[in-house]
Amino acid sequence: MVENLNLFTSTQEVIKDGLHKLGFGEEMYELLKEPMRMMTVRIPVRMDDGSVKVFTGFRAQHNDSVGPTKGGVRFHPDVDEEEVKAMSMWMTIKCGIVNLPYGGGKGGIVCDPRTMSMNEIERLSRGYVRAISQIVGPTKDIPAPDVFTNSQIMAWMMDEYSHLRENDSPGFITGKPIVLGGSQGREKATAQGVTICIEEAARKRGLKIKDARIVIQGFGNAGSFLSKFLYDAGAKIVGISDAYGALHDPDGLDIDYLLDRRDSFGTVTTLFENTISNKELFELDCDIIVPAAVANQITAENAPNIKASIVVEAANGPTTEEATRILTDKGILLVPDVLASAGGVTVSYFEWVQNNQGYYWTEDEVNEKLQEKLVEAFENVYQTAETRKINMRLAAYMVGLRNTAEASRFRGWV
Ligand code: NAD
Repeated sequence: MVENLNLFTSTQEVIKDGLHKLGFGEEMYELLKEPMRMMTVRIPVRMDDGSVKVFTGFRAQHNDSVGPTKGGVRFHPDVDEEEVKAMSMWMTIKCGIVNLPYGGGKGGIVCDPRTMSMNEIERLSRGYVRAISQIVGPTKDIPAPDVFTNSQIMAWMMDEYSHLRENDSPGFITGKPIVLGGSQGREKATAQGVTICIEEAARKRGLKIKDARIVIQGFGNAGSFLSKFLYDAGAKIVGISDAYGALHDPDGLDIDYLLDRRDSFGTVTTLFENTISNKELFELDCDIIVPAAVANQITAENAPNIKASIVVEAANGPTTEEATRILTDKGILLVPDVLASAGGVTVSYFEWVQNNQGYYWTEDEVNEKLQEKLVEAFENVYQTAETRKINMRLAAYMVGLRNTAEASRFRGWV
């Protein structure tokens, strides 16, 4: 059998199962199987050499029955409509799991910012906001950073939106620089959330983080902060990787040394000779594996060889449906992406709340609130899985869809 590696259709499958288990019928599935709104825009940009290049951008809004939609904007050559749609659906589920008053949204522009100047990126970012301005806003749809977008790009987008509306609108977008209304703790929030989920999962399996042997795939924003948190907590990081290969030391790698040497794209293995492959990385002897790079990494091919007892998905969609079944059958505790990587959107929500109230919290206050939300979400999903005797992914979808499905019903949409 050929594995289903299509993120959009496999997401639809789990949504269908989750709604069915919650007792909702076919009509609710019809409503939630696709985003309610999908906008495709063409953005002309004057390039530095005087020519005009026209870029394609998307904004998907999955469902706004609970509140405004929320989700990042990705700048990447591989962005396509299906991926943006699937990611907006995951955002609905993430927001539901951590009980945020949002539905899911997502955006993307087909471009390669690595080959563009800062001025070109600024003109593209402002052009995107002008193109989608009718459907976004602090009470409609709130963008945020994602792959290859950052706080500077959020600042340009916020400035453009504020000019269009003729009032200062910090709540239009999150992930901003602190001086423009960004939140303390936002940059590390995703890794912070993954760490909380690892601690909770370890507790369930009677494992201590101190001296636990951990493998992390990906050494970018999520993977690098995560390895630092776990290293400082006394864990042995026995393997890390990037797009070019992996490093392995059964006694634990020196993470501070590697962090000093990584470049801004999360590459470090090219500096070493004794590397192993990403494939070998997943088969290492260890207690916990954290895929924190790209989608479709744990498949029917390598899942049977995984030796860890816990897998925590920091990346979006790293494990296929078939591999999820294999890991579950092996008794491995799989903490799904929609729960494990919800720290980013949670602190984005805190940023929006602070913008709305005009009063700002300290980093300790933000981290305390994040801890509270994620521990509660983890317990909720874990108990649902135990009670229903289902895997954590299906349990997470059930928990994550409930608010949106109930709100849609109360509004009389279904
Ligand atoms: P990033 O671009 O900063 O880093 C990606 C890392 O993965 C790099 O080290 C890169 O070398 C490595 N990589 C790329 N292709 C690879 C491959 N084929 N095999 C092995 N390694 C590869 O990205 P990030 O922000 O750290 O995001 C990583 C994952 O986490 C993504 O799936 C992203 O959607 C997810 N995520 C990130 C955040 C966040 O706030 N950063 C939030 C939620 C989810």
